[in-house]
Amino acid sequence: MIIGGQPVKTAAPMPVALPYDGETVATVFRAGKPEVDAAVSAAAAAFPAMRAMTREERSAILRRAHQLLLERRDAFASAVTNECGKPIREARVEVERAAGTLLFSSEEAHRLTGEVIPMDASPAGKGRWAMTIREPLGVIAAITPFNFPLNLAMHKIGPALAAGNTVVHKPASTTPVSGIMMAGIFAESGLPPGALNVITGPGGDIGDALVFHPDVKMITFTGSAEVGLRIRNLAGLKRVTLELGSNSAVIMEDDANLEEAVPRCVAGSFAHSGQVCISVQRIYVHRKIRDRFLDQMIEGTRKLTIGHPRDNATDISSLITEAEAERVEDWLAEAVSAGARLLTGGARKRATVEPAVLADVPDTVRISCREAFGPLVSVNAYDSLEEAIDRVNASDYGLQAGIYTRDLEKAFRAAERVHVGGFMINEVPQYRVDQMPYGGVKLSGTGREGPRYAIEEMTEPKLICWKA
Ligand code: NAP
Repeated sequence: MIIGGQPVKTAAPMPVALPYDGETVATVFRAGKPEVDAAVSAAAAAFPAMRAMTREERSAILRRAHQLLLERRDAFASAVTNECGKPIREARVEVERAAGTLLFSSEEAHRLTGEVIPMDASPAGKGRWAMTIREPLGVIAAITPFNFPLNLAMHKIGPALAAGNTVVHKPASTTPVSGIMMAGIFAESGLPPGALNVITGPGGDIGDALVFHPDVKMITFTGSAEVGLRIRNLAGLKRVTLELGSNSAVIMEDDANLEEAVPRCVAGSFAHSGQVCISVQRIYVHRKIRDRFLDQMIEGTRKLTIGHPRDNATDISSLITEAEAERVEDWLAEAVSAGARLLTGGARKRATVEPAVLADVPDTVRISCREAFGPLVSVNAYDSLEEAIDRVNASDYGLQAGIYTRDLEKAFRAAERVHVGGFMINEVPQYRVDQMPYGGVKLSGTGREGPRYAIEEMTEPKLICWKA
Protein backbone atom coordinates (compact mmCIF):
# COMPACT_ATOMS: atom_id res chain seq x y z
CA MET A 1 0.00 0.00 0.00
CA ILE A 2 1.04 3.63 -0.28
CA ILE A 3 0.02 5.85 2.62
CA GLY A 4 1.35 9.39 3.04
CA GLY A 5 3.91 8.71 0.32
CA GLN A 6 5.36 5.68 2.16
CA PRO A 7 5.08 1.98 1.28
CA VAL A 8 3.10 0.14 3.96
CA LYS A 9 2.90 -3.58 4.68
CA THR A 10 0.75 -5.47 7.19
CA ALA A 11 1.05 -8.94 8.67
CA ALA A 12 -1.53 -10.25 6.16
CA PRO A 13 -0.14 -10.83 2.64
CA MET A 14 -2.61 -11.22 -0.27
CA PRO A 15 -1.23 -12.98 -3.35
CA VAL A 16 -2.35 -11.69 -6.76
CA ALA A 17 -2.89 -14.43 -9.35
CA LEU A 18 -3.02 -14.46 -13.15
CA PRO A 19 -6.65 -15.56 -13.63
CA TYR A 20 -5.85 -17.70 -16.69
CA ASP A 21 -3.81 -20.33 -14.81
CA GLY A 22 -3.42 -19.17 -11.22
CA GLU A 23 0.28 -18.21 -11.50
CA THR A 24 1.20 -15.84 -8.63
CA VAL A 25 2.22 -12.51 -10.16
CA ALA A 26 2.48 -10.25 -7.11
CA THR A 27 1.84 -10.03 -3.38
CA VAL A 28 0.11 -7.10 -1.72
CA PHE A 29 -1.07 -6.59 1.86
CA ARG A 30 -4.46 -6.58 3.49
CA ALA A 31 -5.50 -3.30 5.09
CA GLY A 32 -7.56 -3.11 8.27
CA LYS A 33 -9.24 -0.15 9.90
CA PRO A 34 -5.89 1.32 11.12
CA GLU A 35 -4.65 1.55 7.52
CA VAL A 36 -7.96 3.06 6.35
CA ASP A 37 -7.71 5.70 9.09
CA ALA A 38 -4.05 6.38 8.30
CA ALA A 39 -4.77 6.79 4.57
CA VAL A 40 -7.69 9.17 5.16
CA SER A 41 -5.62 11.18 7.68
CA ALA A 42 -2.75 11.46 5.19
CA ALA A 43 -5.18 12.61 2.48
CA ALA A 44 -6.80 15.14 4.83
CA ALA A 45 -3.37 16.48 5.82
CA ALA A 46 -2.37 16.90 2.15
CA PHE A 47 -5.57 18.71 1.20
CA PRO A 48 -4.53 22.29 2.11
CA ALA A 49 -1.42 21.96 -0.11
CA MET A 50 -3.41 20.59 -3.06
CA ARG A 51 -6.09 23.21 -2.68
CA ALA A 52 -3.51 26.00 -2.56
CA MET A 53 -1.79 24.92 -5.80
CA THR A 54 -2.45 26.92 -8.94
CA ARG A 55 -4.37 25.33 -11.77
CA GLU A 56 -1.16 25.19 -13.78
CA GLU A 57 0.73 23.43 -10.98
CA ARG A 58 -1.93 20.72 -10.80
CA SER A 59 -2.16 20.50 -14.58
CA ALA A 60 1.64 20.11 -14.86
CA ILE A 61 1.66 17.18 -12.39
CA LEU A 62 -1.01 15.43 -14.45
CA ARG A 63 0.87 16.11 -17.72
CA ARG A 64 4.04 14.62 -16.25
CA ALA A 65 2.11 11.56 -15.02
CA HIS A 66 0.64 11.18 -18.53
CA GLN A 67 4.15 11.34 -20.02
CA LEU A 68 5.70 8.88 -17.55
CA LEU A 69 2.86 6.42 -18.07
CA LEU A 70 3.48 6.50 -21.83
CA GLU A 71 7.23 6.00 -21.29
CA ARG A 72 6.44 2.90 -19.17
CA ARG A 73 3.56 1.66 -21.27
CA ASP A 74 4.99 -1.86 -21.68
CA ALA A 75 5.44 -2.41 -17.93
CA PHE A 76 1.90 -1.18 -17.27
CA ALA A 77 0.37 -3.31 -20.03
CA SER A 78 2.10 -6.38 -18.54
CA ALA A 79 0.84 -5.48 -15.07
CA VAL A 80 -2.76 -5.11 -16.31
CA THR A 81 -2.59 -8.44 -18.16
CA ASN A 82 -1.07 -10.17 -15.15
CA GLU A 83 -3.61 -8.91 -12.65
CA CYS A 84 -6.86 -9.19 -14.62
CA GLY A 85 -6.04 -11.68 -17.39
CA LYS A 86 -6.88 -9.20 -20.14
CA PRO A 87 -5.31 -10.15 -23.50
CA ILE A 88 -2.11 -8.15 -23.93
CA ARG A 89 -3.31 -6.30 -27.05
CA GLU A 90 -6.33 -5.00 -25.10
CA ALA A 91 -4.13 -4.16 -22.09
CA ARG A 92 -1.96 -1.97 -24.33
CA VAL A 93 -5.06 -0.10 -25.45
CA GLU A 94 -6.10 0.39 -21.83
CA VAL A 95 -2.72 1.95 -21.00
CA GLU A 96 -2.94 4.40 -23.92
CA ARG A 97 -6.46 5.33 -22.86
CA ALA A 98 -5.41 5.81 -19.22
CA ALA A 99 -2.65 8.17 -20.35
CA GLY A 100 -5.25 10.05 -22.41
CA THR A 101 -7.56 10.29 -19.39
CA LEU A 102 -4.71 11.96 -17.46
CA LEU A 103 -4.09 14.39 -20.32
CA PHE A 104 -7.79 15.31 -20.51
CA SER A 105 -7.74 15.81 -16.72
CA SER A 106 -4.71 18.10 -16.98
CA GLU A 107 -6.58 20.19 -19.57
CA GLU A 108 -9.67 20.38 -17.34
CA ALA A 109 -7.49 21.67 -14.49
CA HIS A 110 -6.91 24.76 -16.67
CA ARG A 111 -10.58 25.13 -17.59
CA LEU A 112 -12.06 24.77 -14.10
CA THR A 113 -14.19 27.86 -13.63
CA GLY A 114 -17.46 29.21 -12.26
CA GLU A 115 -19.92 31.67 -13.77
CA VAL A 116 -21.13 35.24 -13.45
CA ILE A 117 -24.71 35.45 -12.14
CA PRO A 118 -26.99 38.12 -13.67
CA MET A 119 -28.16 39.44 -10.28
CA ASP A 120 -30.09 42.45 -11.56
CA ALA A 121 -32.48 40.17 -13.44
CA SER A 122 -34.40 40.32 -10.10
CA PRO A 123 -35.51 43.73 -8.79
CA ALA A 124 -33.82 42.91 -5.47
CA GLY A 125 -30.57 42.21 -7.29
CA LYS A 126 -30.03 45.79 -8.44
CA GLY A 127 -26.54 46.99 -7.60
CA ARG A 128 -25.28 43.48 -6.83
CA TRP A 129 -22.61 41.50 -8.62
CA ALA A 130 -22.20 37.78 -8.07
CA MET A 131 -20.14 34.91 -9.31
CA THR A 132 -19.57 31.28 -8.45
CA ILE A 133 -16.23 29.62 -7.91
CA ARG A 134 -15.85 25.84 -7.83
CA GLU A 135 -14.16 24.55 -4.72
CA PRO A 136 -12.67 21.07 -4.20
CA LEU A 137 -14.53 18.84 -1.74
CA GLY A 138 -11.55 17.45 0.22
CA VAL A 139 -10.78 13.74 0.59
CA ILE A 140 -12.36 11.55 -2.08
CA ALA A 141 -12.56 7.75 -1.71
CA ALA A 142 -12.15 6.12 -5.14
CA ILE A 143 -13.28 2.49 -5.22
CA THR A 144 -12.59 0.71 -8.51
CA PRO A 145 -13.40 -2.66 -10.17
CA PHE A 146 -11.21 -5.35 -11.69
CA ASN A 147 -12.09 -5.09 -15.36
CA PHE A 148 -10.25 -1.85 -16.31
CA PRO A 149 -7.99 -1.59 -13.28
CA LEU A 150 -5.90 1.25 -14.68
CA ASN A 151 -8.13 3.46 -16.82
CA LEU A 152 -11.15 3.45 -14.50
CA ALA A 153 -8.88 4.42 -11.59
CA MET A 154 -7.50 7.31 -13.70
CA HIS A 155 -11.09 8.43 -14.42
CA LYS A 156 -11.39 9.12 -10.69
CA ILE A 157 -7.86 10.13 -9.67
CA GLY A 158 -7.23 12.44 -12.66
CA PRO A 159 -10.28 14.72 -12.22
CA ALA A 160 -10.04 14.61 -8.40
CA LEU A 161 -6.45 15.91 -8.42
CA ALA A 162 -7.16 18.36 -11.26
CA ALA A 163 -9.76 20.04 -9.04
CA GLY A 164 -7.50 20.14 -5.95
CA ASN A 165 -8.93 17.20 -3.99
CA THR A 166 -6.93 14.41 -2.39
CA VAL A 167 -7.63 10.72 -2.87
CA VAL A 168 -7.73 7.38 -1.11
CA HIS A 169 -7.85 4.74 -3.84
CA LYS A 170 -9.11 1.25 -3.08
CA PRO A 171 -8.60 -1.00 -6.12
CA ALA A 172 -10.30 -4.38 -6.51
CA SER A 173 -8.52 -7.08 -4.49
CA THR A 174 -7.92 -9.15 -7.62
CA THR A 175 -6.24 -6.22 -9.46
CA PRO A 176 -4.30 -3.95 -7.08
CA VAL A 177 -0.95 -3.78 -8.91
CA SER A 178 -1.33 -1.08 -11.58
CA GLY A 179 -2.94 1.28 -9.04
CA ILE A 180 0.06 0.98 -6.72
CA MET A 181 2.42 1.50 -9.67
CA MET A 182 0.52 4.69 -10.58
CA ALA A 183 1.03 6.10 -7.07
CA GLY A 184 4.78 5.84 -7.80
CA ILE A 185 4.37 7.72 -11.08
CA PHE A 186 2.40 10.51 -9.38
CA ALA A 187 5.07 10.84 -6.69
CA GLU A 188 7.74 11.21 -9.41
CA SER A 189 5.51 13.78 -11.11
CA GLY A 190 5.62 16.08 -8.09
CA LEU A 191 2.36 15.20 -6.32
CA PRO A 192 2.73 15.99 -2.59
CA PRO A 193 2.93 12.92 -0.28
CA GLY A 194 -0.54 11.99 0.97
CA ALA A 195 -2.42 13.53 -1.96
CA LEU A 196 -2.88 10.03 -3.42
CA ASN A 197 -2.97 6.99 -1.13
CA VAL A 198 -3.64 3.40 -2.20
CA ILE A 199 -5.01 0.84 0.24
CA THR A 200 -5.57 -2.82 -0.59
CA GLY A 201 -7.86 -5.33 1.06
CA PRO A 202 -11.31 -6.86 0.70
CA GLY A 203 -14.00 -4.26 0.13
CA GLY A 204 -16.35 -6.30 2.30
CA ASP A 205 -13.96 -5.80 5.26
CA ILE A 206 -12.70 -2.23 4.84
CA GLY A 207 -15.34 -0.61 2.60
CA ASP A 208 -17.63 0.53 5.42
CA ALA A 209 -14.76 2.14 7.36
CA LEU A 210 -13.85 4.14 4.27
CA VAL A 211 -17.42 5.14 3.42
CA PHE A 212 -18.29 6.11 7.02
CA HIS A 213 -15.06 8.01 7.76
CA PRO A 214 -16.05 11.59 8.69
CA ASP A 215 -13.13 13.07 6.72
CA VAL A 216 -14.19 11.37 3.47
CA LYS A 217 -16.35 13.90 1.64
CA MET A 218 -17.19 11.91 -1.48
CA ILE A 219 -17.23 8.30 -2.63
CA THR A 220 -16.72 7.71 -6.34
CA PHE A 221 -17.49 4.07 -7.04
CA THR A 222 -17.34 1.87 -10.12
CA GLY A 223 -18.50 -1.71 -9.72
CA SER A 224 -21.57 -3.87 -9.24
CA ALA A 225 -25.05 -2.52 -8.55
CA GLU A 226 -25.22 -4.56 -5.35
CA VAL A 227 -22.17 -2.89 -3.77
CA GLY A 228 -23.07 0.51 -5.25
CA LEU A 229 -26.50 0.46 -3.63
CA ARG A 230 -24.97 -0.50 -0.30
CA ILE A 231 -22.55 2.43 -0.47
CA ARG A 232 -25.34 4.80 -1.46
CA ASN A 233 -27.46 3.68 1.49
CA LEU A 234 -24.59 4.07 3.96
CA ALA A 235 -23.15 7.35 2.69
CA GLY A 236 -25.75 9.71 4.17
CA LEU A 237 -25.14 13.28 2.98
CA LYS A 238 -21.78 12.56 1.34
CA ARG A 239 -21.46 13.08 -2.39
CA VAL A 240 -21.68 9.71 -4.18
CA THR A 241 -21.24 8.83 -7.85
CA LEU A 242 -21.99 5.30 -8.97
CA GLU A 243 -20.87 3.77 -12.27
CA LEU A 244 -22.56 0.37 -12.23
CA GLY A 245 -23.37 -2.46 -14.59
CA SER A 246 -25.69 -3.10 -17.52
CA ASN A 247 -27.04 -5.65 -20.01
CA SER A 248 -26.51 -3.40 -23.03
CA ALA A 249 -28.61 -3.84 -26.14
CA VAL A 250 -28.31 -2.95 -29.82
CA ILE A 251 -31.07 -2.82 -32.44
CA MET A 252 -30.30 -4.04 -35.96
CA GLU A 253 -32.78 -2.61 -38.48
CA ASP A 254 -33.33 -4.37 -41.81
CA ASP A 255 -31.38 -1.64 -43.68
CA ALA A 256 -28.32 -2.00 -41.40
CA ASN A 257 -24.90 -2.20 -43.03
CA LEU A 258 -24.00 -5.70 -41.82
CA GLU A 259 -20.47 -5.53 -43.24
CA GLU A 260 -19.79 -2.86 -40.65
CA ALA A 261 -22.16 -3.94 -37.91
CA VAL A 262 -21.24 -7.61 -37.48
CA PRO A 263 -17.49 -7.16 -36.75
CA ARG A 264 -18.41 -4.41 -34.26
CA CYS A 265 -20.96 -6.71 -32.59
CA VAL A 266 -18.37 -9.51 -32.33
CA ALA A 267 -15.79 -7.16 -30.80
CA GLY A 268 -18.42 -5.45 -28.61
CA SER A 269 -19.71 -8.74 -27.20
CA PHE A 270 -16.44 -10.54 -26.58
CA ALA A 271 -13.69 -8.00 -25.78
CA HIS A 272 -12.18 -8.93 -22.40
CA SER A 273 -14.50 -11.96 -22.46
CA GLY A 274 -17.54 -9.71 -22.09
CA GLN A 275 -16.27 -8.32 -18.77
CA VAL A 276 -17.02 -4.75 -19.82
CA CYS A 277 -19.86 -2.76 -18.25
CA ILE A 278 -21.16 -1.81 -21.72
CA SER A 279 -20.53 -5.20 -23.32
CA VAL A 280 -23.10 -6.03 -26.01
CA GLN A 281 -25.30 -8.60 -24.30
CA ARG A 282 -28.59 -8.35 -26.22
CA ILE A 283 -28.98 -7.92 -29.99
CA TYR A 284 -32.48 -7.34 -31.39
CA VAL A 285 -32.45 -8.04 -35.15
CA HIS A 286 -35.25 -7.29 -37.60
CA ARG A 287 -36.82 -10.63 -38.54
CA LYS A 288 -36.13 -10.03 -42.27
CA ILE A 289 -32.34 -10.15 -41.74
CA ARG A 290 -32.16 -12.39 -38.67
CA ASP A 291 -30.76 -15.50 -40.41
CA ARG A 292 -28.21 -13.57 -42.48
CA PHE A 293 -27.07 -11.66 -39.38
CA LEU A 294 -26.77 -14.85 -37.31
CA ASP A 295 -24.72 -16.65 -39.97
CA GLN A 296 -22.23 -13.77 -40.11
CA MET A 297 -22.16 -13.37 -36.33
CA ILE A 298 -21.38 -17.07 -35.81
CA GLU A 299 -18.69 -17.00 -38.51
CA GLY A 300 -17.04 -13.91 -36.94
CA THR A 301 -17.20 -15.39 -33.43
CA ARG A 302 -15.59 -18.69 -34.48
CA LYS A 303 -12.60 -16.80 -35.89
CA LEU A 304 -11.63 -15.47 -32.44
CA THR A 305 -8.42 -16.93 -31.02
CA ILE A 306 -8.67 -18.32 -27.50
CA GLY A 307 -5.46 -18.52 -25.50
CA HIS A 308 -2.97 -17.24 -22.95
CA PRO A 309 -3.45 -13.52 -22.27
CA ARG A 310 0.27 -12.80 -22.75
CA ASP A 311 0.12 -14.18 -26.30
CA ASN A 312 -0.14 -11.40 -28.88
CA ALA A 313 -2.53 -13.45 -31.01
CA THR A 314 -5.09 -13.98 -28.24
CA ASP A 315 -8.55 -12.43 -28.56
CA ILE A 316 -10.29 -14.35 -25.77
CA SER A 317 -8.76 -15.35 -22.47
CA SER A 318 -10.07 -16.19 -19.04
CA LEU A 319 -12.64 -14.59 -16.81
CA ILE A 320 -11.44 -13.03 -13.57
CA THR A 321 -11.94 -16.27 -11.57
CA GLU A 322 -12.95 -19.86 -12.18
CA ALA A 323 -16.02 -19.25 -10.02
CA GLU A 324 -17.15 -16.53 -12.43
CA ALA A 325 -16.65 -18.90 -15.38
CA GLU A 326 -18.76 -21.53 -13.59
CA ARG A 327 -21.48 -18.93 -13.01
CA VAL A 328 -21.53 -18.08 -16.73
CA GLU A 329 -21.74 -21.81 -17.57
CA ASP A 330 -24.68 -22.12 -15.18
CA TRP A 331 -26.50 -19.11 -16.68
CA LEU A 332 -25.99 -20.54 -20.20
CA ALA A 333 -27.43 -23.90 -19.10
CA GLU A 334 -30.46 -22.13 -17.61
CA ALA A 335 -31.10 -20.29 -20.90
CA VAL A 336 -30.79 -23.48 -22.97
CA SER A 337 -33.15 -25.38 -20.69
CA ALA A 338 -35.65 -22.50 -21.07
CA GLY A 339 -35.60 -22.91 -24.87
CA ALA A 340 -32.69 -20.75 -26.08
CA ARG A 341 -30.62 -22.13 -28.98
CA LEU A 342 -26.86 -22.19 -28.29
CA LEU A 343 -25.40 -21.73 -31.80
CA THR A 344 -21.69 -21.65 -30.99
CA GLY A 345 -19.35 -21.66 -27.98
CA GLY A 346 -20.16 -22.00 -24.30
CA ALA A 347 -17.65 -24.72 -23.38
CA ARG A 348 -15.54 -24.00 -20.27
CA LYS A 349 -11.95 -24.92 -19.46
CA ARG A 350 -10.92 -23.70 -15.96
CA ALA A 351 -11.62 -19.94 -15.96
CA THR A 352 -11.99 -19.63 -19.75
CA VAL A 353 -15.34 -19.84 -21.55
CA GLU A 354 -15.63 -20.08 -25.35
CA PRO A 355 -17.53 -17.08 -26.76
CA ALA A 356 -21.18 -18.04 -27.09
CA VAL A 357 -23.90 -16.85 -29.47
CA LEU A 358 -27.49 -17.75 -28.57
CA ALA A 359 -30.78 -17.21 -30.41
CA ASP A 360 -34.44 -17.17 -29.32
CA VAL A 361 -33.53 -16.37 -25.72
CA PRO A 362 -36.50 -15.86 -23.36
CA ASP A 363 -36.52 -12.35 -21.84
CA THR A 364 -36.89 -13.84 -18.36
CA VAL A 365 -33.64 -15.86 -18.09
CA ARG A 366 -30.58 -14.39 -16.38
CA ILE A 367 -28.48 -13.97 -19.53
CA SER A 368 -31.22 -11.60 -20.76
CA CYS A 369 -32.34 -9.67 -17.72
CA ARG A 370 -29.23 -9.63 -15.49
CA GLU A 371 -25.71 -8.44 -16.24
CA ALA A 372 -23.89 -11.49 -17.71
CA PHE A 373 -20.30 -10.11 -17.50
CA GLY A 374 -19.12 -13.04 -19.59
CA PRO A 375 -18.45 -13.98 -23.24
CA LEU A 376 -22.01 -14.42 -24.46
CA VAL A 377 -24.56 -12.58 -26.57
CA SER A 378 -28.23 -13.27 -27.24
CA VAL A 379 -29.80 -12.55 -30.62
CA ASN A 380 -33.59 -12.23 -30.85
CA ALA A 381 -35.82 -11.32 -33.79
CA TYR A 382 -38.38 -8.46 -33.78
CA ASP A 383 -41.05 -7.27 -36.20
CA SER A 384 -41.34 -3.53 -35.56
CA LEU A 385 -38.98 -0.84 -34.28
CA GLU A 386 -41.45 -0.04 -31.48
CA GLU A 387 -41.26 -3.63 -30.28
CA ALA A 388 -37.43 -3.51 -30.34
CA ILE A 389 -37.35 -0.24 -28.37
CA ASP A 390 -39.73 -1.66 -25.75
CA ARG A 391 -37.57 -4.75 -25.37
CA VAL A 392 -34.39 -2.67 -25.00
CA ASN A 393 -36.13 -0.60 -22.32
CA ALA A 394 -37.46 -3.66 -20.49
CA SER A 395 -34.30 -3.76 -18.39
CA ASP A 396 -33.43 -2.73 -14.86
CA TYR A 397 -30.28 -1.16 -16.34
CA GLY A 398 -29.65 1.81 -18.63
CA LEU A 399 -25.99 2.52 -19.35
CA GLN A 400 -25.67 2.67 -23.15
CA ALA A 401 -27.58 1.27 -26.13
CA GLY A 402 -27.36 1.52 -29.91
CA ILE A 403 -29.01 1.10 -33.29
CA TYR A 404 -27.77 0.24 -36.77
CA THR A 405 -29.87 1.79 -39.55
CA ARG A 406 -29.45 4.05 -42.57
CA ASP A 407 -32.77 5.76 -41.76
CA LEU A 408 -32.13 8.89 -39.69
CA GLU A 409 -35.77 9.27 -38.69
CA LYS A 410 -35.76 5.79 -37.14
CA ALA A 411 -32.35 6.37 -35.55
CA PHE A 412 -33.45 9.54 -33.77
CA ARG A 413 -36.83 8.06 -32.79
CA ALA A 414 -34.93 5.29 -31.03
CA ALA A 415 -32.39 7.75 -29.57
CA GLU A 416 -35.24 9.73 -28.00
CA ARG A 417 -37.19 6.77 -26.66
CA VAL A 418 -34.49 4.46 -25.34
CA HIS A 419 -33.85 5.19 -21.66
CA VAL A 420 -30.06 5.12 -21.21
CA GLY A 421 -27.14 7.42 -20.37
CA GLY A 422 -25.64 7.23 -23.89
CA PHE A 423 -27.04 6.18 -27.28
CA MET A 424 -24.98 5.16 -30.32
CA ILE A 425 -26.18 5.41 -33.92
CA ASN A 426 -24.39 3.00 -36.28
CA GLU A 427 -22.12 1.91 -33.45
CA VAL A 428 -22.34 -0.68 -30.69
CA PRO A 429 -23.13 0.47 -27.14
CA GLN A 430 -19.71 -0.81 -26.09
CA TYR A 431 -18.19 2.32 -27.66
CA ARG A 432 -16.52 4.86 -25.36
CA VAL A 433 -13.88 7.56 -25.69
CA ASP A 434 -12.61 8.96 -22.44
CA GLN A 435 -13.58 12.61 -22.74
CA MET A 436 -17.27 11.99 -23.38
CA PRO A 437 -19.90 12.13 -20.62
CA TYR A 438 -20.35 8.56 -19.46
CA GLY A 439 -22.76 7.08 -16.95
CA GLY A 440 -26.13 5.47 -16.57
CA VAL A 441 -29.73 5.64 -15.48
CA LYS A 442 -31.79 3.14 -13.47
CA LEU A 443 -29.60 0.43 -11.85
CA SER A 444 -26.62 1.54 -13.98
CA GLY A 445 -25.89 4.34 -11.55
CA THR A 446 -25.88 8.07 -10.94
CA GLY A 447 -23.45 10.78 -11.97
CA ARG A 448 -21.23 11.07 -15.02
CA GLU A 449 -17.55 10.41 -15.69
CA GLY A 450 -15.25 11.79 -18.36
CA PRO A 451 -12.86 14.33 -16.79
CA ARG A 452 -14.95 17.45 -17.47
CA TYR A 453 -18.10 15.85 -16.03
CA ALA A 454 -16.36 14.12 -13.12
CA ILE A 455 -14.86 17.46 -12.07
CA GLU A 456 -18.36 18.90 -11.74
CA GLU A 457 -19.24 16.06 -9.38
CA MET A 458 -16.00 16.54 -7.44
CA THR A 459 -16.36 20.28 -6.77
CA GLU A 460 -18.90 22.47 -4.99
CA PRO A 461 -20.05 25.78 -6.48
CA LYS A 462 -19.70 28.64 -3.97
CA LEU A 463 -21.59 31.88 -4.59
CA ILE A 464 -19.80 35.16 -3.85
CA CYS A 465 -22.13 38.17 -3.90
CA TRP A 466 -20.95 41.81 -3.72
CA LYS A 467 -23.08 44.89 -3.10
CA ALA A 468 -21.49 47.74 -4.98
P1 NAP B 1 -17.58 -5.23 -7.30
O1 NAP B 1 -17.53 -6.61 -6.81
O2 NAP B 1 -18.79 -4.42 -7.01
O3 NAP B 1 -16.27 -4.51 -6.73
C1 NAP B 1 -15.94 -3.20 -7.08
C2 NAP B 1 -15.10 -2.60 -5.98
O4 NAP B 1 -15.88 -2.48 -4.79
C3 NAP B 1 -13.89 -3.44 -5.61
O5 NAP B 1 -12.81 -2.59 -5.29
C4 NAP B 1 -14.39 -4.17 -4.37
O6 NAP B 1 -13.36 -4.61 -3.52
C5 NAP B 1 -15.18 -3.07 -3.72
N1 NAP B 1 -16.13 -3.53 -2.70
C6 NAP B 1 -16.68 -4.76 -2.53
N2 NAP B 1 -17.52 -4.75 -1.46
C7 NAP B 1 -17.50 -3.50 -0.95
C8 NAP B 1 -18.15 -2.85 0.13
N3 NAP B 1 -19.02 -3.50 0.93
N4 NAP B 1 -17.90 -1.55 0.37
C9 NAP B 1 -17.04 -0.86 -0.43
N5 NAP B 1 -16.38 -1.42 -1.48
C10 NAP B 1 -16.62 -2.72 -1.74
O7 NAP B 1 -17.39 -5.18 -8.89
P2 NAP B 1 -16.31 -5.94 -9.77
O8 NAP B 1 -16.69 -7.38 -9.84
O9 NAP B 1 -14.92 -5.58 -9.36
O10 NAP B 1 -16.56 -5.23 -11.18
C11 NAP B 1 -17.55 -5.62 -12.04
C12 NAP B 1 -18.73 -4.68 -11.98
O11 NAP B 1 -18.31 -3.34 -12.24
C13 NAP B 1 -19.76 -4.99 -13.05
O12 NAP B 1 -21.05 -4.89 -12.51
C14 NAP B 1 -19.52 -3.89 -14.07
O13 NAP B 1 -20.62 -3.60 -14.89
C15 NAP B 1 -19.17 -2.75 -13.21
N6 NAP B 1 -18.48 -1.72 -13.99
C16 NAP B 1 -19.11 -0.55 -14.28
C17 NAP B 1 -18.47 0.42 -15.06
C18 NAP B 1 -19.10 1.74 -15.38
O14 NAP B 1 -18.37 2.68 -15.71
N7 NAP B 1 -20.41 1.87 -15.32
C19 NAP B 1 -17.18 0.17 -15.53
C20 NAP B 1 -16.58 -1.05 -15.22
C21 NAP B 1 -17.23 -1.98 -14.43
P3 NAP B 1 -12.91 -6.17 -3.51
O15 NAP B 1 -12.38 -6.46 -4.87
O16 NAP B 1 -11.89 -6.19 -2.45
O17 NAP B 1 -14.15 -6.98 -3.20
